[in-house]
Amino acid sequence: MSAKTSVWLAFFCALCCLIHDADLRSIQQKASQCGYQSCHPTKPNMLNVHLVAHTHDDVGWLKTVDQYYYGSETRIQKAGVQYIIDSVVEALLRDPEKRFIYVESAFFFKWWKEQTTKVQDAVKMLVEQGRLEFIGGAWSMNDEATTHYQSVIDQFSWGLRLLNDTFGECGRPRVGWQIDPFGHSREMASMFAQMGFDGMFFGRLDYQDKDERLMTKNAEMIWHGSANLGEEADLFSGALYNNYQAPDGFCFDVLCSDAPIIDGKHSPDNNVKERIDTFLDFAKTQSQYYRTNNIIITMGGDFTYQAAQVYYKNLDKLIRYANERQANGSNINLLYSTPSCYLKSLHDAGITWPTKSDDFFPYASDPHAYWTGYFTSRPTLKRFERDGNHFLQVCKQLSALAPNKPEEFAPHLTFMRETLGIMQHHDAITGTEKEAVALDYAKRMSVAFRACGATTRNVLNQLTVQSKENVKDKAAKYVFEFKTCALLNITSCPVSEVNDRFALTLYNPLAHTISEYVRIPVSDPNYKIIDNKGVTLETQAVPIPTPVINIKHRNSTAKYELVFLATNIPPLGYRTYYIEKLDNTEATGKTRASPKSTTSVTVIGNSHIKLGFDTNGFLSEVTADGLTRLVSQEFLFYEGAVGNNAEFLNRSSGAYIFRPNENKIHFSADQVEIEVYKGDLVQEVHQKFNDWISQVVRVYNKDSFAEFEWLVGPIPIDDGIGKEVITRFNSDIESDGIFRTDSNGREMIKRKLNHRDTWSVRINEEVAGNYYPITTKIDLEDDTARMAILTDRAQGGSSLKDGSLELMVHRRLLRDDAFGVGEALNETEFGDGLIARGKHHLFFGRSTDREGVSLKALERLTQLEKLMPTWKFFSNMEAYSADEWQTSFTNTFTGISLVLPKPVNLLTLEPWHENQLLVRFEHIMENGEDASYSKPVQFNVKNVLSAFDIEGIRETTLDGNAWLDETRRFQFAPDPEEAAFNTYGTFEEPAKSVHLLSPEKPMLGVKYAEEALPAGQLGAQSNRIKRETNSEQINKDEGRSSKSSDGAYNSFKADSDSQDYIIELSPMEIRTFIVYLKTA
Ligand SMILES: [Zn+2]
Repeated sequence: MSAKTSVWLAFFCALCCLIHDADLRSIQQKASQCGYQSCHPTKPNMLNVHLVAHTHDDVGWLKTVDQYYYGSETRIQKAGVQYIIDSVVEALLRDPEKRFIYVESAFFFKWWKEQTTKVQDAVKMLVEQGRLEFIGGAWSMNDEATTHYQSVIDQFSWGLRLLNDTFGECGRPRVGWQIDPFGHSREMASMFAQMGFDGMFFGRLDYQDKDERLMTKNAEMIWHGSANLGEEADLFSGALYNNYQAPDGFCFDVLCSDAPIIDGKHSPDNNVKERIDTFLDFAKTQSQYYRTNNIIITMGGDFTYQAAQVYYKNLDKLIRYANERQANGSNINLLYSTPSCYLKSLHDAGITWPTKSDDFFPYASDPHAYWTGYFTSRPTLKRFERDGNHFLQVCKQLSALAPNKPEEFAPHLTFMRETLGIMQHHDAITGTEKEAVALDYAKRMSVAFRACGATTRNVLNQLTVQSKENVKDKAAKYVFEFKTCALLNITSCPVSEVNDRFALTLYNPLAHTISEYVRIPVSDPNYKIIDNKGVTLETQAVPIPTPVINIKHRNSTAKYELVFLATNIPPLGYRTYYIEKLDNTEATGKTRASPKSTTSVTVIGNSHIKLGFDTNGFLSEVTADGLTRLVSQEFLFYEGAVGNNAEFLNRSSGAYIFRPNENKIHFSADQVEIEVYKGDLVQEVHQKFNDWISQVVRVYNKDSFAEFEWLVGPIPIDDGIGKEVITRFNSDIESDGIFRTDSNGREMIKRKLNHRDTWSVRINEEVAGNYYPITTKIDLEDDTARMAILTDRAQGGSSLKDGSLELMVHRRLLRDDAFGVGEALNETEFGDGLIARGKHHLFFGRSTDREGVSLKALERLTQLEKLMPTWKFFSNMEAYSADEWQTSFTNTFTGISLVLPKPVNLLTLEPWHENQLLVRFEHIMENGEDASYSKPVQFNVKNVLSAFDIEGIRETTLDGNAWLDETRRFQFAPDPEEAAFNTYGTFEEPAKSVHLLSPEKPMLGVKYAEEALPAGQLGAQSNRIKRETNSEQINKDEGRSSKSSDGAYNSFKADSDSQDYIIELSPMEIRTFIVYLKTA
């Protein structure tokens, strides 16, 4: 242990005593005055410098979540979150002037649970007085590129709910705080707005963009979060001047080595004058780039404030000595503040702001550091997270639908919610953590699967086994296993491989009846499948591709996949199938292995879509919608650049950064070995590109798209070269440099090669600088044809040539990129490079004038079905014959009676507080995507949720924690079109400047009319959902509102008439409700 470390530790012990000795009761309880009311006053004729004391606590990065919380592994990083909260609370209690913000609910509530009531009460007081303020408030500070909106909404809902349950309305964050994510999505802005946030601040944007915005005073703006939703998705967003760090030389933390403020009158080290001069210079410089006489300076950083007094003591001095100068004419005023108090000052300035409609991707921090590698980094962790979200939704629904709900259901569900919350963190799903931390995340996920797996087994047994009369093993706790096969991703499942008789229960989490092609790993091709009515289904056995069989650590006897079409699987329900091995004499497997064709074109497909393969085994053409076009597909790889990172020209490709060596690309193969299998259900081409890349291309009989199931790895590195592997689809579509990518799985955003919408970009990395995050979809089109690819996890992607789409599927690199991880992204499993497997779905057809449903709408519907397919539960059936099974058990179930209209998705159904459900409905189409599906739709909530005895519903903000009709947000006025940046004065210029609106005539009045609340009251309005709301109140409330077709809101009186439960959704709209259930 170094001398430095022991001093550091000794310091903590001293602190611990202080915390316990503090007389918490000595502080007088003041009336609740949180929110904007608690802001320290600013001075109108001065530059107000809002000092924000904060800590950035990654929910896992170089250390695991728990290592960060407890502060272990100090050799890796001196970071212990428990000490931070301890010491901040202590410092805040000593001085009511001080402020602190806290962001990550995952850490906060871990700490909270460990506290005594006395400490909890003291913290409640701090929160009520606005001295400790929650900002962001989600379970973690989520990444914005690789996350799916469903998971982001979930993790905000949960974090905000615990804050609400614990602190009431004073715990509600008003401001988003996305200071570290590596670029920012438009959908995130939209979600913040719909959750009722007043604004959001962020740290990272392209260095050119930032320069430009600062120079033109456009770093704070109104962001139009949606191309479909209008103003309700607008969010005031501000780019911080100095990321989230303290100004150079002013990190007073124990982690830093900057000089404290030494104010001993006769001290030879007295540095007050010099330090205050420097700080005020910094403030003046910063103020020149912003529009009002307020600036925000973040005083903190990664895991700062473990010894809060050290920082605060120096901030006290900084404020005192700087403000003393006001007596001598200084016009700079320093104050303890928070992001929301800063935002309030911006709002109260009453000026206008620039607007923005695109997003902040990709993020570049220098000419050779495009943060586009993490779009793909750790592809298997990214997929595991998507599986986790899928099972979380199943677990939520079944927990809500269960006839009996034992006590353990709630903690199981909570554990999975919180695990998925952690997974959204900007160093978790991004793949930018150390390998050991990635493994810790995976382990947490697998425990969460087990927890929720116990719940789903319980519920499915309740629903399936109505009476124990026919049950053979009466002593058994559960009649059926309802097991999840975690290794289906390598086509392995012990239940289906080992047992001659087993059941497959398909649980459908969508509120639509669906049909789905199902694949089951089996060791023999001959099986019989009967459905719940005893009907024997058509099956097809397809050989498992040799490269899959040969996966070194795959311990499976399965040699075939048994394919069948499961039809009419009920919404929010299940259908069970009985599967039995046949004697060889009854063989039914009907796949014909076509001879390898080397001399002629191979074609697979159906009447909707046909794929042709050339004599070298590559895809060569696609026929769909009466169009036959050249479409090829191949695997290629970039070499990761290698350098010492000493300057940006020598940047290495790494976990964050994608930097291909000289933009050179290598083909993985000149010739592909293929095997062709054709049956009545599916036709497949098995391609082998080389020893580490293979693929199955398949078209199911009824589908109008093609599936590409790729298998990549272990990526060889024996040549000493890191490789970044892509799949590329080339077509003759004349896309003219334009393509579109999704934003967090929702709205599509137009991209143009070598272009950014808001500034004239200079791109020094022509490949990496054109990569964008693809969470679910990338597409391009011309006047006649369009091509779209759906992904099954987040990947980086681009269109570097007209007609061409590429997606990076896997990367293995040998150098670190010097952004902190300190490890090369060189994932291994079982002693070899990591193998990744996944699916792309290719849509091709007419861009316009298509018969029936548009291709875009078809893509949306498929996107939903691929995100939330049926969940497969396997049970051993050795004890029951097919007849016994069919007559003794309930083998089909549905939780709803009214199927939702096609473009509507039941985004959320989960148990919330006692006798409450949290329910979300969303319209999944954008405006103009389809002539009929892109229209507003109406339906009756009560009919949809008929399985529940509903007493009332009330609409909330997107996060489910505030009543929508009581929620008010700050409104900011956009610049008039002709406004030019240089007409704005800095604080030194007279406030009479033409474009500065006088405070007496705020522009916002226009929008809110009489409804507008004085800004100071906004934060304290009781828009919080009270836990105790009783049914009487609900019925009296006019809270439920329904949008009529012309967009106007009508309030309904709630009575027994179910007409009152009719709601309408317009394209891309999400509506969230608390559903009150009658108590039994
Ligand atoms: Zn971070």
